[in-house]
Amino acid sequence: MNNYDYIVVGAGSAGAAVAHRLSADPRNKVLLLEAGAPSHPWSFIPVGSARLIKNPAANWLYSSEPEANTNGRRIPVPRGKLLGGSSAINGMAFVRGQAQDFDTWAQMGNRGWSYEEVLPFFKRMERYEGSGDDAYRGHEGPLRVTNPQPSEPIFQTIIKAAGQVGIAHNPDYNGAKQEGIAMSQATIARGRRMSTARCYLDPIRNRQNLYIETGALAKALVLDGRRCTGVRYSVGDDRREATASREVVVCGGTINSPKLLELSGIGQPERLRDLGIEVRHALPGVGENLRDHYAPRTRWLVGKRGVTFNDRARGLGMVHQAMRYALFRKGFLASVGAPLRAFVCSREGLEAPDLLLGWVPMLTEPGPKGPRIAKQSGFTCYAHPMRPESKGHIHIISADPRRPPAINFNFLSSPPDAELTVTAIRIARAVMNAPAMAPLILTEAAPGADRTTDDEIIDWVKQAAETTYHPVGTCKMGSDPMAVVDAELRVHGIAGLRIADASIMPTLTSGNTNAPSIMIGEKAADMVLKAA
Ligand SMILES: Cc1cc2nc3c(=O)[nH]c(=O)nc-3n(C[C@H](O)[C@H](O)[C@H](O)COP(=O)(O)OP(=O)(O)OC[C@H]3O[C@@H](n4cnc5c(N)ncnc54)[C@H](O)[C@@H]3O)c2cc1C
Repeated sequence: MNNYDYIVVGAGSAGAAVAHRLSADPRNKVLLLEAGAPSHPWSFIPVGSARLIKNPAANWLYSSEPEANTNGRRIPVPRGKLLGGSSAINGMAFVRGQAQDFDTWAQMGNRGWSYEEVLPFFKRMERYEGSGDDAYRGHEGPLRVTNPQPSEPIFQTIIKAAGQVGIAHNPDYNGAKQEGIAMSQATIARGRRMSTARCYLDPIRNRQNLYIETGALAKALVLDGRRCTGVRYSVGDDRREATASREVVVCGGTINSPKLLELSGIGQPERLRDLGIEVRHALPGVGENLRDHYAPRTRWLVGKRGVTFNDRARGLGMVHQAMRYALFRKGFLASVGAPLRAFVCSREGLEAPDLLLGWVPMLTEPGPKGPRIAKQSGFTCYAHPMRPESKGHIHIISADPRRPPAINFNFLSSPPDAELTVTAIRIARAVMNAPAMAPLILTEAAPGADRTTDDEIIDWVKQAAETTYHPVGTCKMGSDPMAVVDAELRVHGIAGLRIADASIMPTLTSGNTNAPSIMIGEKAADMVLKAA
């Protein structure tokens, strides 16, 4: 009963795409294992992300180790734990990155990963409902992507202010060029979140050759010498094992994929031995090369009433928003996490932008179940370098699969990251202080206008920044000694085993990471099928 052609571990952004494509051929018997639940009610409503960020029913709730450049704080590392993975709890912004990101991967020796070569997979994935150049955009894929218009006057004001400091409007940052300011394209359609569970799995639930098990925690890969032959997993207290006659594809994400490899004896030998794990295959890069966006949120108080969601989505305002959502699927509840974003260059002469600014039209404050709307009216603008050079690592600290791993980001350990972060904050200030913003009567609440020197600004970043939840790179693709997978995503030295998720990215893409993770899943499936 438990024999399959393919086993896919993890039904997240990439894993759902892999399972969808592999099971399209009825001759392929595919098992999809997902540790999390089938779904969560808050996952369907876009604003529900805020209710999932601290929710153990849908989230692995990891956090980092204390670090010097986080002032000893532990930084939350939420990861989706349900069908759809992080695409089912994320902020729903749809950003591919830049052509240069993928060309860099190809230049690092990864054949087949130049932008020209990955573009067909980006197009195949999406059903883009905005207008865009067909050379870049797809309209027939499973994933619904929309292009909201700047319906709120506040967005038009910020776009105007950005124009006043030289940041032009870009109608499609996923098209020919990324640079400029635009409303965020979103994996939201008709007011509903479009996770990969919704778009890649729901339509194929009746395939007889696809077996989806939820609540199924993969604990170890089964190895026969240097070949992966299956997966050991548990459902509640029930221990199970499944075999794959062709391949196992691990899609557990940047934290859990290296964790599973280490639990299976694949990784740094000394580290594994210290934990009493038998070393099956020495691979020093497992868990290394961790990168993420360390993103300070600047905060701005607004003196004019009715402009932000702080005024319009509290008390009776929320009743109005709820009715608007129920009747028209529009408004605050249907909104993408950061509805407006700008991709900007830190200096003249750059070929492509290196900084990201993202605006959220309200202020939030921490609450027991996640962020809640603050009483004060204002908005948040996060600002950070898109391709940070600081690298950390994630490693297990116990042979027990249920124990969380230790996550060390080493944020700002590379000096250019700090310099670019300061520049990003200065550009955010320039936009906020542009003439178009003046009627709103803004006060800079954080970092605060009195923090003027680079040191004062970085000091605040260390106290306040969190990530935008884009960890990548811990099972790096490449051919150097620290690479974990080759350009076909096969684990170096182990047959029958691939990794396909955000962990294979050798560098961080310029923007959010859902779209590139799905692209990786699409491309992985293509390579697996071609190899069969
Ligand atoms: C709060 C938040 C907000 C974000 N906002 C955005 C955004 O607005 N736009 C954007 O583009 N990106 C965003 N991201 C990032 C983006 O969602 C992720 O980069 C992307 O989903 C990663 O895809 P993945 O396939 O690598 O991993 P995931 O989607 O995380 O999938 C991994 C899956 O594997 C399962 N799994 C893991 N280990 C096991 C195991 N041992 N056994 C069985 N199953 C297992 C997990 O439960 C999960 O379902 C956000 C992420 C978060 C968490």
